[in-house]
Amino acid sequence: MEPIEGMNFELPEELVQMRDTLRRFVDREMIPIERQVRSTYKTDPKPIATLTEKAKALGLEGFDVPVEHGGMGLGLLAKTIVWSELARSIALPSRGGAILGPNISPILYALNPAQQEKYLKPTLAGKYRWCFMQTEPDAGADPSSMRTRAVRQGDHYVINGNKRFISFAGDSDYAQVIALTDPEKKARGGISAFIVPIKTPGLKLVRQQELMVDDRPWEVTFDNVKVPVEDRIGEEGEGFKHAQHWLNTGRIRHGARSMGVMMRCLELAASYAKQRVTFGRPLADRQSIQWMLAEMYTDLHQLRLMVHHAAWKYDRGEDIRNEAFMCKNFGNVQSFIAADKCMQIHGGIGMSTDLPIETLWRDQRSMQITEGPTEVLKMTLARHVLKEYGG
Ligand SMILES: Cc1cc2nc3c(=O)[nH]c(=O)nc-3n(C[C@H](O)[C@H](O)[C@H](O)COP(=O)(O)OP(=O)(O)OC[C@H]3O[C@@H](n4cnc5c(N)ncnc54)[C@H](O)[C@@H]3O)c2cc1C
Repeated sequence: MEPIEGMNFELPEELVQMRDTLRRFVDREMIPIERQVRSTYKTDPKPIATLTEKAKALGLEGFDVPVEHGGMGLGLLAKTIVWSELARSIALPSRGGAILGPNISPILYALNPAQQEKYLKPTLAGKYRWCFMQTEPDAGADPSSMRTRAVRQGDHYVINGNKRFISFAGDSDYAQVIALTDPEKKARGGISAFIVPIKTPGLKLVRQQELMVDDRPWEVTFDNVKVPVEDRIGEEGEGFKHAQHWLNTGRIRHGARSMGVMMRCLELAASYAKQRVTFGRPLADRQSIQWMLAEMYTDLHQLRLMVHHAAWKYDRGEDIRNEAFMCKNFGNVQSFIAADKCMQIHGGIGMSTDLPIETLWRDQRSMQITEGPTEVLKMTLARHVLKEYGG
């Protein structure tokens, strides 16, 4: 029988080639130095600079930057290939690592022409770094309950409040700050976004939070911080929309990153299981170990189908909100389980800092909390399920 037209699971040839090139790069350039680069929580900048230089040969610089801003403007399917292949190594930190051009939050592309000149251009040129300030002591998974207030006074706003868990605040030139402009409306038009240079008087970096992952996010206070009206992003009340848009597109990146982690865990676990002999036989001969490998393989296959399907749909201009929730949740949970199984198969050496497994395990555990905890994404997805299937 002829195959049914219109259903095609093959990656286009150019993406297969791109994947293979990236895989060789990760194997040859990143994996050999990964433990040296990430031996402490602060990533060593020197090997990253060398990697960035070598990565130029890949011809993928600016892969995540739209063409109209001088980048390659790759489609989402192509980007998932880049994200997943790079995630096979821990050489780059799990948050904020970039060797193929700067990481730009999509909110910055929503800036008006004057703001783009002032902030986006120097960021694309690698001169400015930014951070994103949304979370507060009493508003994390539920940002709509934030209390940081921005009160308009003539041609400027005055911001007061506290933010916490702000990654890279200490290394940034400016922050994208999400604050309350109308406490009555809250998430329904009462939250706005601003660009605030880190050196603005009244903005204080209070302390860095020690964590089990390498990130050391900051606690920040705003004490009568004056921000000109021209540094507001979009209209007043649009901040929540902008912030949520960014978090939505990032969910596919989480799924793709998880694919890379699962591929690496499978490679490590399968090769170790073949080498390591206990009770006179290799671990690979034991059914309990084979089952772990078979489960990891099946989960990776599911995730790959989900991520590639969501990206393909996005590239066709379709809404992928629900797919994005599923890709982030499934990917982050299953990649953590894969790292856990990989650690179990390795025994004590799996917990050592000679191997990347403990880092993958810690990183993937944290991904189930940040940028939308698992339960909250499921809660949002359930609204759709109840509507579609609840009659
Ligand atoms: C390493 C790291 C980096 C971060 N970087 C940034 C950053 O750069 N900028 C920024 O703004 N924020 C950042 N954050 C904050 C992060 O986004 C929040 O930690 C996250 O949103 C969860 O908020 P919370 O910690 O206040 O948990 P809470 O909101 O207190 O939730 C606690 C737990 O309760 C459960 N829960 C919550 N609501 C529900 C519900 N409705 N139903 C069922 N269960 C629920 C979930 O399991 C959740 O994990 C970072 C955090 C970490 C750890």
